[in-house]
Amino acid sequence: MKEIQHFINGRFTSSSSGLTFHKRSPLDNRVLATVHEGGQAEVDAAVMAARGALRGEWGRMPVEKRLSMLHAVADEITRRFDDFVAAEEADTGQPHHVIAHAFVPRGAANFKIFADVVKNVPTEAFQMETPDGCGAINYSIRKPKGVIGVISPWNAPFLLMTWKVGPALACGNTVVVKPSEETPMTATLLGEVMNAVGIPPGVYNVVHGFGPDSAGEFITRHDSIDAITFTGETRTGTAIMKAAAEGIRDVSFELGGKNAGIVFADCKLDDAIEGIFRSAFMNTGQVCLGTERVYVERPVFERFVATLKARCEGVKYGRPTDPGVNFGPLISHEHRRKVLSYYDSAVKEGATVVTGGGVPDMLGELAQGAWVQPTIWTGLPETAVVVREEIFGPCCHIRPFDTEEEVLDLANANRYGLSTTIWTQNLSRAHRIGSSIEAGIIWVNSWFLRDLRTPFGGSKQSGIGREGGVHSLEFYTELRNICIKI
Ligand code: NAD
Repeated sequence: MKEIQHFINGRFTSSSSGLTFHKRSPLDNRVLATVHEGGQAEVDAAVMAARGALRGEWGRMPVEKRLSMLHAVADEITRRFDDFVAAEEADTGQPHHVIAHAFVPRGAANFKIFADVVKNVPTEAFQMETPDGCGAINYSIRKPKGVIGVISPWNAPFLLMTWKVGPALACGNTVVVKPSEETPMTATLLGEVMNAVGIPPGVYNVVHGFGPDSAGEFITRHDSIDAITFTGETRTGTAIMKAAAEGIRDVSFELGGKNAGIVFADCKLDDAIEGIFRSAFMNTGQVCLGTERVYVERPVFERFVATLKARCEGVKYGRPTDPGVNFGPLISHEHRRKVLSYYDSAVKEGATVVTGGGVPDMLGELAQGAWVQPTIWTGLPETAVVVREEIFGPCCHIRPFDTEEEVLDLANANRYGLSTTIWTQNLSRAHRIGSSIEAGIIWVNSWFLRDLRTPFGGSKQSGIGREGGVHSLEFYTELRNICIKI
């Protein structure tokens, strides 16, 4: 069993309170690590270190050198690829191919891509006339915002944490990170990488702990934190926004989703079924961009439901590296209780359970894990709890529709607006619906496909702000205008 400490000012440190908590494996509930629980003292120390680094070597470092160090971070993650994959597999229990082909490589890429964005970002300048005829020139420069509080979730821990740390550091900020209590490992490993490549102490700090009345809340309330970037539940975002209001601190929020998938009869049906299967069930449905509401045009409804059911019934449960495994457990028993309560609620509200709805039979040690079956419902009204609320599990409700207008209203009738997938061969329709859907990200005939330079974020209660490419600079830098009279 491991011991996981905080990473503050370039050093691994224990909690002064002596408090710790256990990180358990989602696969079999075994205790994997004892994690130090940070309190106000650790958050104070991390924030002080981060502020010191801004005034010190990091703050004075030429931009070129800073950016080349971030390339070195990415290279070192790649060199230690197996360690990161093993840590992420232990934390999440998800299949090896998802972690090794998507989550860890994206984590490394997050350092390179933002270093390159910052290197190439243009500035603006305006010439103006003055009453004396001499004129003046205005130009803008971007300065780091300062110390950024990074609060991240457990569902793709390394990818989502580095999606914030990468741009924050590329822009010259320093960070205090609070990874999810469910997934403390990769953030800690990243501390070793930072030291290995010579990132100055205090630039990257990690304090472990929980949310309310713990490290998370202490970071968001800290008066020396300049801005807070958060990915997690909308309800948590509300609490963080209240904390950030003290001191008028900026926030960037990537929040929940209840995303629609719209399948028209003119689509390539096999592609649509495969796309919806991935978007509803990848990572055991624990993806903010996942599809939990599926609308299928009536002529292909029956075939769609039957084929998706067969795909679900063919998943292979097991440990991340067991041959053929493509379906992992939920992150914890606590989360499983929540997901299973939604499974019960669907039945109480009159759903037809097409497949799943319970817990699979697992053998040996795996019987202690947080497993659930992929689940499909039909026959519920849009007012049903499982059709309205984000479940964050491997499940979806499928409903037939008849017209484009009808499905647009159905897709938009939700408080969230993160993403939507549209499956059609009709290009005009794709453009028409794409611009009328109230969501930040629209995929046509694809899912989870994105150039990292594009804006990412949600509408309505799915978030505030956009991250990705130059859009991240809006949050991680402060624009300063300099006006020079000629
Ligand atoms: P969560 O909100 O429970 O926790 C996220 C983080 O916030 C954790 O580190 C937690 O400890 C911390 N936290 C909790 N309460 C806090 C408080 N009061 N103050 C400060 N920090 C606090 O979310 P989760 O369960 O870890 O993640 C799942 C949620 O994240 C889902 O709703 C999902 O849709 C969302 N998500 C969104 C995106 C996106 O890009 N929009 C991406 C991934 C996940």
